[in-house]
Amino acid sequence: MSKTIPVKKNDFIDVVFEDLTHDGAGVAKVEGYPIFVQGGLPGEKAKIKVTKVNKGYGFGRLMEIHEKSTFRVECPADDAHKYGGCQLQHISYEGQLKYKENQVKQVLTRIGKLDDVVVHPILGMDNPWHYRNKAQVPVGEKDGKLIAGFFKPRSHEIVDTDESLLHLHEINEAIKAVKEIASELGIQPYNEEKHKGVLRHIMARYGKSTGELMVVIVTRVNEIPQQNKLVNEIVARLPKVKSIVHNINSKKTNVIMGDKTEVLWGSEVIYDNIGDIKFAISARSFYQVNPGQTKVLYDKALEYAELTGEESVIDAYCGIGTISLFLAQKAKKVFGVEIVPEAIEDAKRNAELNEISNAEFAVGEAEIVIPAWYKEGNSADVLVIDPPRKGCDEALLQTILDMKPKKVVYVSCNPATLARDLRILEDGGYKTVEVQPVDMFPQTTHCEAVAKIVLA
Ligand code: SAH
Repeated sequence: MSKTIPVKKNDFIDVVFEDLTHDGAGVAKVEGYPIFVQGGLPGEKAKIKVTKVNKGYGFGRLMEIHEKSTFRVECPADDAHKYGGCQLQHISYEGQLKYKENQVKQVLTRIGKLDDVVVHPILGMDNPWHYRNKAQVPVGEKDGKLIAGFFKPRSHEIVDTDESLLHLHEINEAIKAVKEIASELGIQPYNEEKHKGVLRHIMARYGKSTGELMVVIVTRVNEIPQQNKLVNEIVARLPKVKSIVHNINSKKTNVIMGDKTEVLWGSEVIYDNIGDIKFAISARSFYQVNPGQTKVLYDKALEYAELTGEESVIDAYCGIGTISLFLAQKAKKVFGVEIVPEAIEDAKRNAELNEISNAEFAVGEAEIVIPAWYKEGNSADVLVIDPPRKGCDEALLQTILDMKPKKVVYVSCNPATLARDLRILEDGGYKTVEVQPVDMFPQTTHCEAVAKIVLA
């Protein structure tokens, strides 16, 4: 027998928020029935309007706050920023840090069944705004005008935005300039519905320590109309530009970049430094977006690896070899694995650039390359894993359990999959010693954490 639902669509009700979800919505309960409301904060009393009623939970809209949380702050800018990823902009930075730290603790207990793990206080930023070194903005059309900005949540409607509070100023400038130039030259924006038009995305990436800017123009078609003029204007208006790249994505897809990339002007890569190491970064390679916090994160990973110079180390999901090269300075040998071929080319180039000769790299899926490598009789003392949000593939976790490295350092951008994978490692004989959350993405709900796991 199903319980009756205590609210109806369009009801106005007074609630008290008890919690925040992993995507930043306030949770209120009416006779045990949870209602999710964007903008509500724990402890706040408010009036909401019920907007959707499902069997086990509902959604509501925040109408009026009767009693505010001490963590509530005035939103520094208009609504558009919410769409640009600032889902937590209504929470003080102190409150955001607390929220993320709690989130890590909660999932470790709930999903990982790890009750006695030490979770250190989260490492945050001094100034949690204008930190992102990369943006990729969708281009579209509104009232006959070329626009670029952010998708509204759960929609394909683009909100035209010139200034993001998350991006470095150089990135905002670059996006705005390219948008204006494309508009002046009459380059047709992409129309997603009809799969027509030319310009799909503008991407910009900036090496904060070197002052080098890369602009990537993503188009549906092979030829960019007025290409020379476009390139000349970008060079003229953006003096920091070192690389202009064209990526062709002719498919009907949400994926931003296509398979074909050509350099239109300047270098194929830009450079950036993290600590003492210099990195070449090409258009399609993953590179951490928060330069200051990246150093904090990698230092922690290195600390947890506890290298003496004698170890052989695997860096799975190595990207352009960032963590690998950090580790190589303190290890005997590092073996990096990554799925994107361009990233591995960058990784090799980066090893050479820094005269690091004890790092090797292979292209492929970590869950295929590492088991095969192990079957050939190879092994490692320390494994570092830094997977995408979906976490590690089971085949890789199984290989870790078979190979039995003394230590695993898990760098995670998704606490839920971290907790799931830690449970598998624990069941296979490992012990999670400590977890350090690092705020790589202030104002957003995203949370990064590094875990130290040892053979029990
Ligand atoms: N450690 C790097 C990259 C982390 S991001 C850094 O800090 O810069 C995760 C990386 O995993 C991305 O470069 C992505 O291309 C890669 N990747 C995704 N799935 C993979 C898989 N199955 N096997 C190997 N690499 C993968």
